[in-house]
Amino acid sequence: MGIDMGSPAQAVAQALTEIRARMDRAATMVGRPAGAVTLVAVAKRQPAPRIDAALAAGHHVYGENRVQEAQQRWRDRREIHPALRLHLVGPLQTNKVRDAVALFDVIETVDRPRLVAALSEEMARSGRRPDCLIQVNTGAEPQKHGVLAADLPDLLRTATEEAGLPIAGLMCIPPADQPAAPHFALLAELAAAHDLSILSMGMSADYETAIHQGATHVRVGSALFGAREAL
Ligand SMILES: *Cc1c(COP(=O)(O)O)cnc(C)c1O
Repeated sequence: MGIDMGSPAQAVAQALTEIRARMDRAATMVGRPAGAVTLVAVAKRQPAPRIDAALAAGHHVYGENRVQEAQQRWRDRREIHPALRLHLVGPLQTNKVRDAVALFDVIETVDRPRLVAALSEEMARSGRRPDCLIQVNTGAEPQKHGVLAADLPDLLRTATEEAGLPIAGLMCIPPADQPAAPHFALLAELAAAHDLSILSMGMSADYETAIHQGATHVRVGSALFGAREAL
């Protein structure tokens, strides 16, 4: 009765519980097991106390969209939390590849041959092999990152057969002004066609829809932590 929303830590812990419950309900609704989907808590531009609250509540999977911001946030925290899993969900420039491979467990935004080559070289050099997802620009938006669906087979071939990257699945960010479900369905179709098991799709506004369409990972920021700090 009357959960106290007074502290940011309590607000985050409560949101975490509620989102997990909604995720489980969305999964069971379509015959998937509860707990089938991983919540990637998107930490970008969130104040430190909110992140520490989620860590204190036992959450260990986080998403970041900038390499430098992520390095600052996790440098010390990752030593205290060895179970931590960090996902890069923002665009990756080739000059940040070394730092990204050193820090992240999953790189969700592989989207072009030059980046594939740079990642391959750095993985060989460092011996670290974070899982990679290919970002697909399902809405073919000119301003958006991601490979076009039509170009996915070529990029996949380059990434796996030529570069030997550990490609585990696909990721997308649907156009903001369209219903998301058809984009999620397209991504699921592409993943099935290429025998890829990981589907990163769905954010605060539409993660349940994404789970209905087969998401294995949802990326949730503001619904969990509250509004982000301005850029
Ligand atoms: C910011 C971001 C999210 C989280 O967005 P919310 O709407 O706050 O949940 C998810 N995915 C990517 C790629 C993002 O950049």
